[in-house]
Amino acid sequence: MEKEKYYISTAIAYTSGIPHIGNTYEAILADSIARYKRLKGYDVYFQTGTDEHGEKIELKAKDASKSPKEFVDEIANEIKNIWDLMHVSYDKFVRTTDPIHEQAVQKIFQKMYDKGDIYLGEYSGLYCTPCESFWTESQLVDGKCPDCGREVTLKKEEAYFFKLSKYQKRLEELFENNTTFLKPESRRNEMLNNFIKPGLQDLCVSRTSFTWGIKVPFNDKHVIYVWLDALTNYITNLGYSVDNVSDEFKKYWPADLHLIGKDIVRFHSIYWPAFLWSLDLELPHQIFGHPWLLSNNDKIGKSKGNAIYASDLVEKYGVDAVRYYVLHEIPYANDGNITYELLEERYNSDLANILGNLVNRTLAMSKKYFNSEVSNPKVHESVDDNLIVYANSLLKIVDNKMNEYKISEALDDIFELLRRSNKYIDETCPWVLAKDETKADRLKTVLYNLLESIRISAVLLQPFMNETSEKIFKMLNTKNTSFDTLEFGNLETNITLNEAEILFNRIDNK
Ligand SMILES: [Zn+2]
Repeated sequence: MEKEKYYISTAIAYTSGIPHIGNTYEAILADSIARYKRLKGYDVYFQTGTDEHGEKIELKAKDASKSPKEFVDEIANEIKNIWDLMHVSYDKFVRTTDPIHEQAVQKIFQKMYDKGDIYLGEYSGLYCTPCESFWTESQLVDGKCPDCGREVTLKKEEAYFFKLSKYQKRLEELFENNTTFLKPESRRNEMLNNFIKPGLQDLCVSRTSFTWGIKVPFNDKHVIYVWLDALTNYITNLGYSVDNVSDEFKKYWPADLHLIGKDIVRFHSIYWPAFLWSLDLELPHQIFGHPWLLSNNDKIGKSKGNAIYASDLVEKYGVDAVRYYVLHEIPYANDGNITYELLEERYNSDLANILGNLVNRTLAMSKKYFNSEVSNPKVHESVDDNLIVYANSLLKIVDNKMNEYKISEALDDIFELLRRSNKYIDETCPWVLAKDETKADRLKTVLYNLLESIRISAVLLQPFMNETSEKIFKMLNTKNTSFDTLEFGNLETNITLNEAEILFNRIDNK
């Protein structure tokens, strides 16, 4: 049977600077979903990459005495390195400066123009000449330019517009009828009531104030608005072109999930559907606007001086501890918080104590009592039921959470099995059983149940902490690592465990 496809994307990262852990979170989150879907048997296409055009980048490059292309080449490379460092298993890393994308965007612009969805008009706004920026009335500070404080003047400029107003009714219907298109629910209400219902104005989709962008194909004074350029990355890199579409595009489009930050929901849920309708293409199945990771409950930013970078955290705690922290600490709809102190607390309580200790204690007892040989004589007692029943239901529990992208809760559910296993050690007291020769088979069974619970946890932890799961599989000497093996009792018998290794060293700062 052919595998069902699943296309997931992150937003493309803006190459104006190196992403901090708050930006990196999105790639890790998408990765955990992509890995989960692969383990579930889907044919996954996972796309991420960089957004490289626009005035801000042109200015930053100038400040750094570099050409814009040199500047974005460096940053894009660094972003890719961070994604790789965090074990982000993308299928394609795309860049908006790739020629294939640039050519496809020009054709898209041309098609929308030929169709009458893009027209030449006049943009009028409050303009600050030294800053070369338009402002709206509400952006002004004391009636003056918010950037430099100078007087602004009313200025008119030739510009191309996209007929967003034409799609007003269709957008309203989309939001009214399709309750799962945009998640979480709060974002859907916000878009519908604050943006769509009050009325959509046509969107200015070209700029003449800078040159670093994709040129309008029939008027090279204009560059194409960076969002029209950026959003189309989801189709151009799959091989969509106005006059020709690839097999890959036919297979994977529409996307199943665009995972994005909550701050860019408007672009993805209002502009993007309108652009796709204009091209007569299907809409993505779902857009999920994830919350933010804050530091000391404040937005993370370079200018705020509170930026924390993934590479520094990884050096100190390892990749999986960082992945676990960000995935666990950001709830479904609320912002999460990161500080070094909080990360270390969570590291010690969950990774070192609950997971690391369980694995070490269990392997140490197996070595001490049975020379690390695994067997299962099945001397069952009723105390085992709680553990086994929970372990057997865990895939279903986790699956329900993952289908709603409640990653943090899915992790809690997996750790619940580890918690119960630690409790099971206290309940069964293997060291007491070891003193009584007639209890040898019961002791073997108890240790088997513990090892099997560890294996099941590790199988389910793969999407989130792949490296740790691999280490556990190696210690257990097991080949049963797929989701098909999740039924309790699939850990091989007549195998010998490998040497235990410390998974997470406790952090002691005293
Ligand atoms: Zn100004």
